Amino acid sequence: MSLLDVKAIRKDFPILSRKVHGQELVYLDNAATSQTPQAVIDSIVHYYSHYNANIHRGVHSLSQEATDAYEQTRIKIQKHFNAAHAHEIILTAGTTHAINIVASGYQELLQAGDVLLVSALEHHSNIVPWQMLCEKTGAELQVIPMLQNGTLDMAAYHAMISPKVKLVFCNHVSNALGTVNPIEEIIGAAHAVGAAVLIDGAQAAPHLQANVQALGVDFYTVSAHKLCGPTGVGVLYGKQALLEQLPPYQGGGEMIATVSFEKTTYAGLPHKFEAGTPNICGGIAFGAALDYMHGIGFDQIAAYEQELLDYATQALLAIEGLKIYGTAARKTAVISFNIEGLHPYDIGSILDQMGIAVRTGHHCAQPIMDYYQIPGTVRASFSFYNTFEEVDRLVAGVKKAKSMLC
Ligand SMILES: *Cc1c(COP(=O)(O)O)cnc(C)c1O
Repeated sequence: MSLLDVKAIRKDFPILSRKVHGQELVYLDNAATSQTPQAVIDSIVHYYSHYNANIHRGVHSLSQEATDAYEQTRIKIQKHFNAAHAHEIILTAGTTHAINIVASGYQELLQAGDVLLVSALEHHSNIVPWQMLCEKTGAELQVIPMLQNGTLDMAAYHAMISPKVKLVFCNHVSNALGTVNPIEEIIGAAHAVGAAVLIDGAQAAPHLQANVQALGVDFYTVSAHKLCGPTGVGVLYGKQALLEQLPPYQGGGEMIATVSFEKTTYAGLPHKFEAGTPNICGGIAFGAALDYMHGIGFDQIAAYEQELLDYATQALLAIEGLKIYGTAARKTAVISFNIEGLHPYDIGSILDQMGIAVRTGHHCAQPIMDYYQIPGTVRASFSFYNTFEEVDRLVAGVKKAKSMLC
């Protein structure tokens, strides 16, 4: 008995009925990007057909309609994450952009000798901006180590926490392994020494709803394209006091209060961080995506995906020589695996011939692959629109790939 009417849900996604290499598509690369429901596609078509205009400037009706719709998204995001204020929601181009806004801002707030802690489980986008920041400031980046099961070594983390630590970075969920990190504990320990915490929520957001006030998190980042929304839109949530402290990231239109050649004053939040014409249509479509997902229900999504994860994990583990990386007790529906003696790329290519889309490689998390001393993995990542039959096709495909390659 399924918790969701997945058959009906699948009809909302036109792409899911297409064929690849003559076979029905089995899309299992949801951790890279999610597919787009008709309601979101419609919102994009509607925007360009009816009220395409620049926002926050014009007195004319189209501009006001576009501004209202765009600002509605900000409020939807605020409610979704339970932020205290709508102006704590900065609309960005995505998680990478959001993290860079914070990293660039801290350049003026750090000094040599300060320590930043980054988890070993991070996506490159939550590593490289901090390395660049450390090069510029003389601050030191230290790594919270990981354990064999793909969880963080929390004892090591607590031992690393000291008053020298100014910032801590960790993802809520690892995109490479699916591990759900104990962010409450991470935030609590960081706050005890006065450090701020940035949680990369890109991989968590499609599966679980974070409550930023309950968490007390300082910064939280999201990409719309992993939540049934379009690419090129995302969120930087920040506590008002911290966002006010940070200098703007880019200069230009929209982010100013007054401009003269003698002196320019900056706009208040959120516009201080939103220079230039934003992705207006994308922002509006992100709002439609959130509405769509709430229509299904995040609790229902999480429960159903957990069933898919358990089913797929058991079926894959029954294949001889198959090893799963990331076996934490708390995981979202991501399975990273290899088969002894086979290259992940070869398995992925054979699966593609069967219409099955998985990811192969390092998943933008090379340090994790280095830890396991592997070049990469095959990653199957599931969404609420995937079915048990699709898991069966994956398992059959992996068995076939194994027989062809061995
Ligand atoms: C996808 C992802 C990112 C990067 O998101 P972009 O949309 O490419 O900016 C960062 N961190 C995690 C955990 C991700 O899953």
